[in-house]
Amino acid sequence: MDFIEPGNLIRFGYKDCVLCEVDQKGKEKRCEDCSGRLDQRDRLLYEIRRERVRRNAGLMSLVYPGLGHLYSERYASGLFWASLIPLTLGLALNVWKGVDAGHLALLFAFGLVWWFAWLDARHGVWEDATPCESACPAGLRVADYIALVRENKPLEALALIHDRLPFAAFCGRGCLRRCERECARNEFSAPISIMELKRYAADQGYAARILPDVVSDAPGEPRVAVVGAGPAGLSAADTLARLGCYVVVFDSREELGGMLRYGVPEYRFPVEALRNDIDHIFARGVVFRGGVEIGRDISIHDLEKDGYDAVLVAAGGSVAVKIEGSGTEEQGFLDARSFLENVRRGRPVDLKGSVLVIGGGGVAIDAARTALRLGAPEVTIACFESLEEAPAQFREIEDAVAEGVKLLCSTAVKRFIQKDGRVSGCEALRVARIKRDQEKAIIPVTVPGTEFGIQADFVIVAVGSEADLGFLPPVLSKSVVDRKNHVYGLCLKGAGDKIKFYMFGDCASGSRTVVEASAFGRAAALSIFSRLCAKDDKVARFKDNYRRRREPHEPDRPEWRVRRAGVRLPVESRHGNFKEINKGFTRECALEEARRCARCNLSL
Ligand SMILES: Cc1cc2nc3c(=O)[nH]c(=O)nc-3n(C[C@H](O)[C@H](O)[C@H](O)COP(=O)(O)OP(=O)(O)OC[C@H]3O[C@@H](n4cnc5c(N)ncnc54)[C@H](O)[C@@H]3O)c2cc1C
Ligand code: SF4
Repeated sequence: MDFIEPGNLIRFGYKDCVLCEVDQKGKEKRCEDCSGRLDQRDRLLYEIRRERVRRNAGLMSLVYPGLGHLYSERYASGLFWASLIPLTLGLALNVWKGVDAGHLALLFAFGLVWWFAWLDARHGVWEDATPCESACPAGLRVADYIALVRENKPLEALALIHDRLPFAAFCGRGCLRRCERECARNEFSAPISIMELKRYAADQGYAARILPDVVSDAPGEPRVAVVGAGPAGLSAADTLARLGCYVVVFDSREELGGMLRYGVPEYRFPVEALRNDIDHIFARGVVFRGGVEIGRDISIHDLEKDGYDAVLVAAGGSVAVKIEGSGTEEQGFLDARSFLENVRRGRPVDLKGSVLVIGGGGVAIDAARTALRLGAPEVTIACFESLEEAPAQFREIEDAVAEGVKLLCSTAVKRFIQKDGRVSGCEALRVARIKRDQEKAIIPVTVPGTEFGIQADFVIVAVGSEADLGFLPPVLSKSVVDRKNHVYGLCLKGAGDKIKFYMFGDCASGSRTVVEASAFGRAAALSIFSRLCAKDDKVARFKDNYRRRREPHEPDRPEWRVRRAGVRLPVESRHGNFKEINKGFTRECALEEARRCARCNLSL
């Protein structure tokens, strides 16, 4: 299939079977159920239809077990479930001699049949997935894109990643890598460097400078406004644009990316890499209106008047959580988000003196490493959690310590000490263990009598953030649209019946990760499109029948036991600058690492 133009996969969307592409347009020999030429819209419509069929099948199975299976063309399963009801009922009636424990158990089994039939019909066909694939919140086909990297086809690998995740550059650098935790290679040595391989595919693929095409027969409707240009909002915009909608993204900040642009430090995610991800989204015809704050510059009702059919709210978590006893910026107290945003905007704080960062998550580590780069002579992180419990990634903690950050785990601030109107330090206590309250907030159990002092001229607070949805009119009701993906429907005071409101991303789910925010945005887009254009998916022709051939599974070889590492900036070259630390894989390194993959998908 090498004669097929790989750039087409980027331009029109990934598809496994591209055999007909070798024929001239209109003269293709189509396979049974084939959707014809590459068409990203058909592919998404098929996904929407599949979800609708599953939902309806579940409802029908509640009326009578098996009915839903027959509706979704799963005839054998349908007959099986349908036959269980007369069988259990017949059995119960045959031996009926009044109520006793055995009969009650049979009646219970009767109810269970109904319940399991509903579950199975709602779930649809059970597809086997590799451990890495099941662990990925975006459901990326990890084994397949690793196989494409191994075959030296990074462009195709990028197209496959883009099929479900537009942030290939970011997730190749800053993903929390749940897939690697589940990778089958853990059993033999170390997991595959899935994140680095994704980055390699992204860097190489983007270097080809091929951009996606606007959907050629785009209907330009429905018209959707997206509030928030972070990963959740942009991922929704990307999916809607692929479906041919007219999408406008509004953001109060001037530039795109949300926390990817104004939070994550440059040494982890350079602005050029973000631009690559974003260019691919906007090449699909999405419109951006930056520097427009909904609620201040225009209202939600103005959007309704402008003729939008739906408003998707993905406003992130913009308000930093404060800690008791902390003071103002003039007194030396900073919140980590604003601190990092100011640095990314080129307005860094002059940190003359020691810095204490409070928090154990990734944001605290970012703030501490940024403070060091700005010239702070001493930076200490204090957090409730022990080293093993800290939510930050271990690799980030290791890097921070190597760069000179001091780590005080299992530490709780008792009170801040101020001198001449400015913070001069704090009194802290050792934490024996942590417990959680009903809202999952951390409560430290401190050890009395273990008080000690920490000197600090600046305190940076990084203990989480909350959504600020004050720009919305009063919410009359909030309904769950998609529980798994934290998508909610809103009914707003004063809004007409025609316009729909959805909310998702960090503002709905609480602080999460980029890959999750992106997956939630995609799910919200598919859901709103299905609601607004119920008829469209009926014509969806796409059916992905192509499956890679099964192969004998070879789990281990001695040469596969070594995990490759990318080139990194030495610690001594990191001070005083924000140069990217991780330089990624070389070609040889990427191919060797991809070869380590046990290709679990071929043995399923
Ligand atoms: C410092 C930092 C480091 C992080 N590091 C990582 C990491 O390494 N890996 C990872 O996976 N995740 C990381 N995260 C988390 C990740 O960035 C978030 O989970 C993700 O950005 C959430 O996406 P979102 O689109 O929901 O919200 P956001 O990215 O916050 O975007 C929301 C957007 O909405 C806009 N907005 C808000 N209100 C309005 C309004 N009224 N009108 C117009 N626009 C509005 C905001 O300006 C913002 O651009 C990090 C977060 C931070 C803060
Ligand atoms: S070995 Fe490959 S296919 Fe198997 S879980 Fe790891 S990355 Fe996925």
